[in-house]
Amino acid sequence: MSKKMFKSESKKLLNLMINSIYTNRDIFLRELISNASDALDKVYLESLTDKKIKVDKDKLAINIGYDKEKRTITITDNGIGMTDKELDDNLGTIAKSGSEAFKESLDKGSKNIDIIGQFGVGFYSAFMVAKKITVDTKSVKSDKSYLWESSGIDGYSVNVSNKKDNGTEITLYLKDDTDEVKYSDYLDENKLKELIKKYSDYIRYPIKMEVTKHVEDPKNKDKFIDKNEIETINTMIPLWKKDKKDVKQEDYDNFYMDRFNDYEAPLYTITSNVEGDATYKALMFIPKKAPYDFYTKDYEKGLALYSSGVMIMDKCSDLLPDYFSFVKGVIDSEDVPLNISRETLQKSYSVRVIAKSVESKIRKELESMLKNDREKYKEFFKVFGANLKYGVYDKFGTNKDKLKDLIMFYSAKKQDLITLKEYVDAMSKEQDSIYYASGETVDKIDKMPQLDQVKDKYDILYLTDYVDEFALTALQEYEGKKFVNVLSDNFDLSSKEEKEKNDKMNKDSEKMFEDMKKVLPGVSEVRFSNKLKDHPVALSVKGDISIEMEKVFKSMGTDMPINAEKVLEINENHKIAEKLKDLYKNDKDEFNKYTKILYSEAALMAGVTLDNPTEISDLIVDLLAK
Ligand code: ADP
Repeated sequence: MSKKMFKSESKKLLNLMINSIYTNRDIFLRELISNASDALDKVYLESLTDKKIKVDKDKLAINIGYDKEKRTITITDNGIGMTDKELDDNLGTIAKSGSEAFKESLDKGSKNIDIIGQFGVGFYSAFMVAKKITVDTKSVKSDKSYLWESSGIDGYSVNVSNKKDNGTEITLYLKDDTDEVKYSDYLDENKLKELIKKYSDYIRYPIKMEVTKHVEDPKNKDKFIDKNEIETINTMIPLWKKDKKDVKQEDYDNFYMDRFNDYEAPLYTITSNVEGDATYKALMFIPKKAPYDFYTKDYEKGLALYSSGVMIMDKCSDLLPDYFSFVKGVIDSEDVPLNISRETLQKSYSVRVIAKSVESKIRKELESMLKNDREKYKEFFKVFGANLKYGVYDKFGTNKDKLKDLIMFYSAKKQDLITLKEYVDAMSKEQDSIYYASGETVDKIDKMPQLDQVKDKYDILYLTDYVDEFALTALQEYEGKKFVNVLSDNFDLSSKEEKEKNDKMNKDSEKMFEDMKKVLPGVSEVRFSNKLKDHPVALSVKGDISIEMEKVFKSMGTDMPINAEKVLEINENHKIAEKLKDLYKNDKDEFNKYTKILYSEAALMAGVTLDNPTEISDLIVDLLAK
């Protein structure tokens, strides 16, 4: 077979690998062992459904060998192996899941080191230490075996080989030592043992290596001799089966990074050992950052599902509710049958019972993080909070009560995130509602004219997330307190006398407002207001759809446009009020121009984009030039 080229993204990645920009070279071994372990999982699973494949479970193993003379390290498994097509698909391009994202981030010019850790580059990491790699492999589904060979960037070749046993043997030809790096350090029993123990101890299959033991000579008790022996290096106990007190956080972190392809340790680790209706062990993590595709429809939630130590499903989505989709982890349960189809499995009773218990465990952990480690919770919330808020609103609010105490909003008073409970607890007796205002950013909301009147007296929640208002709409109230939009036109804190005065003013100018509306097609109402302190105008809304919600609906591209009912409020105590009345009487043309400019100013402050910016700009300059 002829020489083939790597796919282009793979080439760039290889370049990074070969030039060893990533400093933690040690991980190459754990990546290859992890692949071998997956291959063993796969062959076992396959044997459960395909009777032609015979597997002796006790013989499944990974072997590590090294040769000082030849400067090689070999990693051998008797797993599923690869056909020639699979070799092409799997080793001709970087892990499919990551390749698109990898390309994207290269295009964006992100830092190389991040990229390598981020997308599970697995196999290719071996090029950090090897100048040539061969993969001799025979698939359980084929009679033929193949040898893949590559010296890096130039491409690879695949040729028929004569491997007899099923499985894969990977040989790394180490790079020559340099002044900076002694690659030959890896050709050492103790070094390899150390790496296996550090990164791959939990692998459930034995990782075997020939080791030299210094033992008593059976023929001569006074003498010691070197004896070669095959030893299993790892303890093979999965991390989640170990007692929590015997495991260091570093071990959990390493496991997480390896298993879930993250380059950072998790923000939070959850372990759980449950007996009862559901019996299972769980090891779960909350990542520090959202996966690159988290807020897209490509993201697949789920926990890995093991049945008595054997992985039966990589991502069982039914184990996690959507609002906790950011959780990564492993569930191991004896209740789950080994050999049933994925579809049946997801819907099975035991999975449902476990899912319920997992949900409540995660919720309790989040509650306790909020209570005991607020800074960490805030860090979490900044990344995944929108997901929880979406959960409040999703499914017609079915889960709102479970989540309402986990969500946070920015408080104008505290200038920090607070919970609804904290808001309500800090309310004075006379305050009967929870006040909020929505906008693009905290700064922009903070400067909105309508807020001045309220801010001195009460705290206001600033909503900047697109889902915020939808969540509040779903909640309707919290501890009997209604949510009130400060940017709504009927929001009013004025006294009875003030109200009467305002009503009268509005009544007197009714006709003028009607004429203003004719010039402002998007506006449902124009009125005088007494709540704007020193500001001349503001844009408020009537009804339930706020300006921010209108933007969300627009971005979703619904067939029927859903619009906010906009109200232009004019400060009745501002000079502009008299000016308008005067123009209305004496100069209709000028009056119309003023109307348009005033609306545009209110719209700008509310974060509404203008349909006619050029016209408005010309109008303003005309006025200035007068
Ligand atoms: P990942 O493991 O993240 O998918 P890798 O680049 O490490 O990415 O491996 C690519 C693919 O090559 C694997 O998904 C697997 O299908 C195949 N593969 C790698 N090593 C082995 C192996 N030892 N036995 C069988 N298949 C393997």
